[in-house]
This record gives sequence, C-alpha cells and structure tokens, in this order.
Amino acid sequence: LNPSNENYSPEELDVEKKLRPLTFDDFTGQDQVLKNLLVFVQAANLREEALDHTLFHGPPGLGKTTLAHILANELNVGIKVTSGPVLDKPGDLAGLLTNLDDRDVLFIDEIHRLSPIVEEYLYSAMEDYKIDIMIESGPNARTVQINLNPFTLVGATTRSGLLTAPMRARFGISSRLQYYNTELLTTIVQRSASILNVPISMEAAIEIAGRSRGTPRIANALLRRVRDFAQIKGNGSIDIDIAKFSLEALNVDAHGLDEMDNKILTTIIEKFKGGPVGITTLATAVSESAETIEEVYEPFLIQQGFIMRTPRGREVTEQAYSHLGKIKGPKQGG
Ligand code: ATP
Repeated sequence: LNPSNENYSPEELDVEKKLRPLTFDDFTGQDQVLKNLLVFVQAANLREEALDHTLFHGPPGLGKTTLAHILANELNVGIKVTSGPVLDKPGDLAGLLTNLDDRDVLFIDEIHRLSPIVEEYLYSAMEDYKIDIMIESGPNARTVQINLNPFTLVGATTRSGLLTAPMRARFGISSRLQYYNTELLTTIVQRSASILNVPISMEAAIEIAGRSRGTPRIANALLRRVRDFAQIKGNGSIDIDIAKFSLEALNVDAHGLDEMDNKILTTIIEKFKGGPVGITTLATAVSESAETIEEVYEPFLIQQGFIMRTPRGREVTEQAYSHLGKIKGPKQGG
C-alpha cells in the first residue's frame, strides 16, 4: 500500500484512471487550492490566454496528476504528460514543446528530477515561449530560435525543497496539497465504490477512509482489495464486518501508517528514548534521506499527532507509544 503508484500493474493503473475526477466539481477536498484555481482558470479562459505556469507540491497520491488533467479539461485544451527522469535530453523536450497547441498543458511529474541542461532549456520556453534548437551538424551546425504556442507548464513534485530557485520563480501559481481528513476520504471512497459498482455501507466507507493515511490513492487501493474480499468471502457488498475482516487480513495499520512511518516512530522510541533527535541523525538511523522524511513522512505523522517538532529535534508523543504498544521510559517521564 505504497502511496506512490510505482509498482502498479497496468490493470491497476487502468482502474486508477477510471476513478480519477475529471472536473473541479468532481474533485473532493483541497478547497482553498481549488477556489483559487477556479478563479485563475476562469480569468485565463475569459482572456483566451494560457494559464500561468502552475506548480503542485505535496506528498504522493494526493491528486497532483488529477489536478493537472482537470486544469486541461477546464481550460478546454489538450494535455501532454511526461516526467522529470524521462526527459533526459533537451531534444526530447523540444519535441514535446513544438507539438503543443495554443494554451495546451504540458504536465511534468517529478519536476525536481529534471537534468540541469533540460531545466535550463525549459526556462526560456516558460518565460517567452521560445526555444533554440540546433539544426544540421558538423561545420553547418547552427541554432535557430523557434516560437512556441503559449502553453501552461504544470509541474508536480513531492520534494519542493529540491526544486532550484530559478525554476520555482518561473511558476506564477504554486499550490501545496494537504492530507485529506477521514470525512473527505469517506466521500472519495463512496464515489469510487459507486464507479466500481460495489455497494458499500457508510460505516464501512468510514473504516476504509480512516485507515488510508490521509491519501486518496491509498483509499482507492484499499477499497479495491476490500471489494475482492467482499466478492470471494461475502455477498459482494461491503459492510463493516467484511471491511474490518479484510483490513485485518491485509495487515493494515489502524491509522493507515505504512512501514516507514512505523519504522520512524519505533526508531525514535527505541534508539533515541523518544527523542528529541535531529533530522539527520534520524535519517541515518532509518536509512532514508532527511528530505524524504521531512517532505513525505513527517507531515502526516505530525498532522496525526504522533510526532512533535521541537527546537532540539523530533520527539514522539504519548499517542505514538500507545499506538505501538510501547511503554515510555523514565527519561521522558521526568
Ligand atoms: P503522485 O505524485 O504519486 O503521482 P498524485 O498526487 O499525482 O500522486 P493522483 O495520481 O492525482 O496523485 O491521485 C491518485 C489517485 O487518487 C487517483 O486515481 C485519483 O482517482 C484519486 N484522487 C486523488 N485526489 C482525489 C480527490 N480529491 N478526489 C477523488 N479522488 C482523488
């Protein structure tokens, strides 16, 4: 139940696409972000201009790709999709850029992983819709400047801290996506269940939502697994009993915490007596980069009240002890 979709099979990616909201109306949560985007899109449509370049940042599975597609729909334009690691030569980027129609969206996922040359090349495209391309080779080689159609670059990143300052400065709109609360996730689970044609009780939807780590992608993945149990072990519809039974069988943590979340908490408790511990020391102890901990794991653990950030580092809370069934040592008590 990784919040990123890297290990999904083609079938699973297909279902994920089917569950993707297509319009602002269809999209649940992120109210402030949506409210602003709606204004910017309406203004761009009114002026018949390309929407300003837009950056979405935040943990995986919260809807960055979905929003990029929604923007294209609401602008009534086409979208081309690529990602930072795939674009390794300026030529690849030039091919995409020269094929964009007026006001189209170019979506670059994991934009923090663009190579520096490609990134540099993107700057002039973003700024004045122009690129230089090299024609011919050998002694006749020369560069010519090509005008592009005005377009909107939509970038997505889980690691905004890794974005270079010049890159960041070129986005007129920048929105951070937040984790979803159980109420919003319940709505998402109900919507997905109805698309998948599986009856689900309110109680069961809440149970799945509460164990989804604040993440729609996880909520949808859990729903699909619970649906399997309902079909094989039950009568096809999802009630609270089948939901609980399946989530137990899947070994899903009561709060939806994943392996790394639990490893971080256990490490702070067992190796650092509950903290405080500095982020670099913690990162080394759990063999993960400090940036990933700060941008992907910690925000959820803080939001859920398992970790506190103090001036001297990270400290676990009472709730972390009770969640892991651990007893607090004397150092923290006194
Ligand atoms: P990543 O950074 O890992 O690519 P992401 O933030 O781009 O993740 P999406 O691919 O947009 O996430 O969303 C993951 C899944 O969650 C999608 O299939 C979509 O159906 C669902 N989803 C995301 N946000 C919402 C939402 N607000 N309402 C309903 N479904 C949503």
